[in-house]
Amino acid sequence: MIRIVKKYLLSIDQGTTGTKVLLLNDQGAIHAGSYQKHKQHYPKSGWVEHDAEEIWACICTGVNEAMKQGAVSPDQIESIGLANQGETVMFWHANTGRPLYPSVVWSCRRSHLIAERWAQDGDWARQVTDKTGLRIDPYFSATKIRWMMEEVPEVRAHIDRGEAHCSTLDAWLIWKMTGGRAYVTDPSTAARTLLYNIRTGEWDRDILAYLQIDRAWLPTVLPSVGGFGETDPAVFCGIKAPIRASVVDQPAALYGQLCIEPGMSKCTYGTGCFVYMNAGGTPPEAAGGELLSTIVWEMDGEVTYALDGGVYSAGSAINWGMDALQLYDSIAQLQQWSEAWAGERAAGLSEASDEFADRLWFVPSLSGIGAPYWQSNQRGIFLGLSHSTTNTDMAKAVLEGIAHRVADVLEAMQRSANRPLMVLKADGGLTGNPYLMQVQADLLGIPVEVEADPEATARGVGYMAGKACGWWEPEQLRRSKSDTKIYYPRLTQETRSRLRAEWRRLLQLLLAFYR
Ligand code: ADP
Repeated sequence: MIRIVKKYLLSIDQGTTGTKVLLLNDQGAIHAGSYQKHKQHYPKSGWVEHDAEEIWACICTGVNEAMKQGAVSPDQIESIGLANQGETVMFWHANTGRPLYPSVVWSCRRSHLIAERWAQDGDWARQVTDKTGLRIDPYFSATKIRWMMEEVPEVRAHIDRGEAHCSTLDAWLIWKMTGGRAYVTDPSTAARTLLYNIRTGEWDRDILAYLQIDRAWLPTVLPSVGGFGETDPAVFCGIKAPIRASVVDQPAALYGQLCIEPGMSKCTYGTGCFVYMNAGGTPPEAAGGELLSTIVWEMDGEVTYALDGGVYSAGSAINWGMDALQLYDSIAQLQQWSEAWAGERAAGLSEASDEFADRLWFVPSLSGIGAPYWQSNQRGIFLGLSHSTTNTDMAKAVLEGIAHRVADVLEAMQRSANRPLMVLKADGGLTGNPYLMQVQADLLGIPVEVEADPEATARGVGYMAGKACGWWEPEQLRRSKSDTKIYYPRLTQETRSRLRAEWRRLLQLLLAFYR
């Protein structure tokens, strides 16, 4: 008798706060899943670290848990996809894999002096933007690497002995999963290091020489979808399967939302908001430095680029409104109010009361402002306070401020791409808030499509892995995609233009103040 073994894809989303594992069936539907949180270490103000060994343990626990939950055995795993947190970087022992120092997380600002020095040195700021599509900023891996080279004796010693590897977390995790056989990354991750030339598709020799980073420490760059090696069952949950996809989490979410054609855009609303617009096969002009341009994936012999813009304070501003200002007791309370506000808006009540004179405005630049303004010393503001201002007005203004900031980024993207946006795909924790989503649709004047199932990132790498093993083409997935909730714009064109013009006037004021 022939036993037919049902096969699954294993999809791992190794994110900043935790690791999500999914098992997808051959229709792209979620069969089982798990989530493991890992610790955030803040040894000094502005510093953020992760313990890579803890993350590795979380992945193994999460994979075992998902297999158990779905009653799936290791031989039923057809292939594996991995999403990583991007710029987070580490030095490790080239032979044993032992981390030489904690992983320095993307949000860590410890290398800001190195970044400032570099940006002011000659023509480097322009050159780096031309080569990498990014800006010189401690957010990206390069200055974090340089900081470890200068400050960590253990790193220096291993460099001197020729025993140092230096990589983003994906390359270390793949090395671990394959039992030390593969030392590889993909172009979407390499593109977040500030060391990779997105035009030539190589580690950039000039930048490496300037920072004295040796090419030999870095992983080999392979296409995002294809083959990254086979896992070693002795170290990886008994699984012997090919790793077929590896990308950064934001590109994975873009793919998970099936934004696979130029112009299609998504925003992930979480702690911060991350907006990506698919730009097709040529590096986009980033609107005179207003936006970043980056690689989202390489597959089928083609590189796909995207415009990238971030709003740093979104969910974090909502938490601040609760914890520091006590505007609401809980997210559940804010949600209750938001449902009522969304109801009023749907009934057309609040449009009439969109009084400009009495409006309360909030700009959520609590830790500087990113795209398209880039002013890191800027701080937030409430404008329009009066004796009649209440905590609920302020809570509402926080939500509206987030939607305005996302609109700023998307308007810059439309100018840069010279094409209008038809729809915005939304995912992430904040998309559960109906008022935020309605205001977003109103301010953009286009529908906002919210994914019912929030796992766009994990699904995205799963979709890529499934494509690599010939299970489907994205077109087929479109038909089987789970339900979405669509918010349609309700404001008149005139009200929308006025609101956006007032917002821009406020932003000009703030930019001038912090200049
Ligand atoms: P991340 O992936 O960045 O950790 P999530 O996508 O999990 O973030 O979203 C968590 C954030 O969303 C938190 O800041 C939380 O306060 C906020 N949040 C969750 N639900 C709501 C809601 N209904 N309304 C407003 N904010 C919410």
